[in-house]
Amino acid sequence: DQMREAQRALETPLFSGLPGDIEVSFEFFPPKSEKMAETLWQSVETLKPLGPRFASVTYGAGGSTRERTHQQVVRIQNEAGIPAAAHLTCVNATREEVDEVARHYWAEGIRHIVALRGDPPDGATKYAPHPGGYANAVDLIAGLKKVADFEISCAAYPELHPDSPNAQADIDNLKAKFDAGATRAITQFFFDPQSFFAFRDKATAAGINGEIVPGIMPVLSFAAVQRMSGLCGTAIPGWMEGLFEGLDDRPEARQLVSATIAAELCRRLYAGGVRQFHFYTLNRAELSYAICHMLGLRPKA
Ligand code: FAD
Repeated sequence: DQMREAQRALETPLFSGLPGDIEVSFEFFPPKSEKMAETLWQSVETLKPLGPRFASVTYGAGGSTRERTHQQVVRIQNEAGIPAAAHLTCVNATREEVDEVARHYWAEGIRHIVALRGDPPDGATKYAPHPGGYANAVDLIAGLKKVADFEISCAAYPELHPDSPNAQADIDNLKAKFDAGATRAITQFFFDPQSFFAFRDKATAAGINGEIVPGIMPVLSFAAVQRMSGLCGTAIPGWMEGLFEGLDDRPEARQLVSATIAAELCRRLYAGGVRQFHFYTLNRAELSYAICHMLGLRPKA
């Protein structure tokens, strides 16, 4: 019995790292204070040697960070030398206003937009397009393509968008985003690789052949991830709650647990053929750096 158990244990593959034949991108959010701006910049500099293909900066709810997003995007591209992508939403703005923001980016040499519908502004529970604004992401992508020949990434939801009537409508909407000019979809975060694989299969079956890049969320705060999951419809597996239990006041132990979970998720995605990963860094470099390291990435000379 003991011998059989040992045999079984040895058959469980050891995580010995991966060859690093992957491409990564990093997402940041616009800082709200000087101190947060410093943290962001340190993170950008820490992650830069890993050679990301792009770094993106989010657009605050309701377009509230227009200036700050713009500033960070331009700085990342011009000072850090990383191709930068600007997130842009339809919320609270007319088509002309959105087009104007896009024209500004183009004039500054920014060629990549992450085009999103956005969430309803605070207080509203249901999304309603701005009168005179772009109706949704498909509409926005088509409009941006008329402004200039941007590279466009869009959002995808392996575990369904909360507004989605059903899985097929979500896939049809994603297909429409590619047809309108997106060349890449970045997914909402998820913790079950099976939901990504099932989604990828459905997308392929629907004739989508653009990139679908998993969005990886390393857990900084489990409470925050639980909150976000409630809003965006991502399921948190029961085992995760157990793993983070009692670690609220132990940031270092928590970080080790987080890295292990995210590396394991990426390892399984890699085994399923995924070679591109997008990291929700939350402006902190260390976890994303460690995970990239385990995936085999090393600083480029
Ligand atoms: P859309 O693709 O327009 O629609 C969302 C969903 O609504 C669809 O998936 C579908 O289920 C349903 N739907 C819409 N139209 C139809 C239709 N005609 N028929 C059937 N179903 C329909 N938000 C921000 O405010 N700022 C950011 O910077 C930001 N960055 C993000 C980055 C990523 C990678 C992701 C995944 C999300 C991001 N978000 C951001 C959140 C995003 O704005 C919300 O998830 C929003 O609710 C939907 O945006 P979308 O572009 O997916 O919308």
